[in-house]
Amino acid sequence: MSIYSKNDAVNHLKIIIVGDSGTGKTSIITRYIKQTFEPNNKATIVPLYSSKVLTINGNKYQFNIWDIPGQDRNPVVTRSFAQDTQGIIYCCEVKKTKESLKSWEESLNSFTDTKEIPKIIVENKCDLLGDESFYNEDINILRETAKKLECFKFFRTSALNGYNVNGAFNALINEMIKNVKIKGIENSNKIKLSNKRKSTNAKCC
Ligand code: GDP
Ligand code: MG
Repeated sequence: MSIYSKNDAVNHLKIIIVGDSGTGKTSIITRYIKQTFEPNNKATIVPLYSSKVLTINGNKYQFNIWDIPGQDRNPVVTRSFAQDTQGIIYCCEVKKTKESLKSWEESLNSFTDTKEIPKIIVENKCDLLGDESFYNEDINILRETAKKLECFKFFRTSALNGYNVNGAFNALINEMIKNVKIKGIENSNKIKLSNKRKSTNAKCC
């Protein structure tokens, strides 16, 4: 992957990140886009949008990443952002319950069929784990949650030190690219979702 030069045509792909307030959604996006950590993020009240342009296998893509407020699951907001999304990140944090992710999935599914959309879970703040074993109870819950939500992979990340953030986005992006068939890439930005993708057997990185 490389940073894309400005003059070429670009294909737009949409990613949304959902999860409870305080899990680190805004921080993860900031880490991915700016490679920095801003400790004093204010709570996200309105959906925020950031983008990153990449060239992958000679094709140009602009990934538009929507940061959805976690506090109140406003159906109007959820609907407008769920529609047309081509990638979903469910965000939770280490040592905290993952229960609410199921209700996020239900909210999204009431507005759009997420079955064919590539999805991952990021369990953020793994810098707080210290020396605790990687193979602990928490990771089993994470694995089960990923399976329930049909995520193809789950990641432990740290927006604070950057651990796995690029890895998580790259995995999702690669799966999204596999999932699209681009019609006439040279002269059109139209993208069609393929029906072939299956999301089972989640693995962790
Ligand atoms: P959001 O509400 O999901 O967007 O969460 P924020 O990105 O605003 O982060 C909530 C709080 O968690 C802030 O105080 C962040 O500084 C902190 N935070 C975010 N990511 C991490 C992380 O990876 N590690 C640690 N230790 N704190 C984090
Ligand atoms: Mg936020």
